[in-house]
Amino acid sequence: MSQSLSSEQTIRLFQEYVIGTYARFPVALVRGEDSYVWDSEGKRYLDFFPGWGCGLLGHCPAPVVEAVRRQVGQLIHVPNTWYTELQGRWAEALSRRSFGGQAFFCNSGTEANEAAIKLVRLHARRPRYKIITFEGSFHGRTLGSLTATAQPKYHEGLGPLLAGFVYAPYGDLDAVARLIDAETAAIMIEPIQGEGGVRLPPDGFLAGLRKLADQHELLLVFDEVQTGAGRTGKFFAYELAGVTPDILTSAKGLGGGFPVAACLATAQAARGLTAGVHGTTFGGNPLAMSIANAVLDVVLAPGFLENVARLGLLAKQKLAALADAHPKVIEEVRGEGLMIGLKLRVPPGDFAALARAEHLLSIPAGDNVLRLLPPLTVSDAELDEAVKRLDAACVAAEANLAKAAA
Ligand code: PLP
Repeated sequence: MSQSLSSEQTIRLFQEYVIGTYARFPVALVRGEDSYVWDSEGKRYLDFFPGWGCGLLGHCPAPVVEAVRRQVGQLIHVPNTWYTELQGRWAEALSRRSFGGQAFFCNSGTEANEAAIKLVRLHARRPRYKIITFEGSFHGRTLGSLTATAQPKYHEGLGPLLAGFVYAPYGDLDAVARLIDAETAAIMIEPIQGEGGVRLPPDGFLAGLRKLADQHELLLVFDEVQTGAGRTGKFFAYELAGVTPDILTSAKGLGGGFPVAACLATAQAARGLTAGVHGTTFGGNPLAMSIANAVLDVVLAPGFLENVARLGLLAKQKLAALADAHPKVIEEVRGEGLMIGLKLRVPPGDFAALARAEHLLSIPAGDNVLRLLPPLTVSDAELDEAVKRLDAACVAAEANLAKAAA
């Protein structure tokens, strides 16, 4: 189908025919290449939030395009009633690159977390079933993952939710210890909170959780849906803290823009998930696995992750200088690798709109933060370009502040 409608015409189609679950930017996109996307009117944007972080290698990266072309004429989909070498190879690669153990494959972050929640319940001996999660977390939209998400705004109108979740303040080890009782089965956490505002745990917090989990025979679950696949400069963010979970979920970047997700578990934790207990029609299909293997080859190539860490440091230096130049707009720069948050003194939605007017795409998160998740393939020059565009957005935000004060 050719794409010939203007952004305005496309928006009208959505107003009439698409359920309004998303607050969309008023732009229809038609094409992407590396760090850039183009709208229906031919305007080019520097995309520092490609696919909410799924565009790990930018838009339409050659290895993904080639993997699709190769696989799509050979075998697109067969369900998990068959063996495929591609799925076996990806599982082996993830196991070797993480903490050993086994994998279950699905299509989205929320599904990976549902698998983790089931694993916990199947592993724990009764009466244990409760999972401790953290205020400000985001684990997904299906009812289990949604209940794990300790943010009341996402729960409104949807109760009753799944039983068995208790919430602790992020970073408060004593509060976690106080919540553990005879029914507790697991602790589930994002090693860096993404949607909550690129919040890093205090030093020693994840190690403290590991210790508590070991003392009380709980499973430790890391949700690396956003932090995984090299985003932080390590393949998984748990490597930054040197703390290994029993279960890990990941999605977003794993498929380089294609829906791919994984729930990894130690062989011990995975034991309960037997035939018939869990499943998914599309998960782990040959097309998805061919793409996932291609993405992994890029990310694990020698020097790739080191370069992500270098780019992350460079970006933070440049953004810190920007924060110094615009103290009324930017309060703090935080993050790891290319998972970056700008804590703002102005509303992040308004600032994202100002940045978009400068043709830079980003997205607000919690805690008054603007989130930047550029492709891991971003160039030094593109980082400079992004900082220049953010600088212009800061100038515009300062002008608005001055106007409001007058
Ligand atoms: N977990 C985390 C940490 C996330 O950031 C997200 C999505 O933003 C999810 C889970 C849910 O993933 P999905 O939207 O693919 O279901």
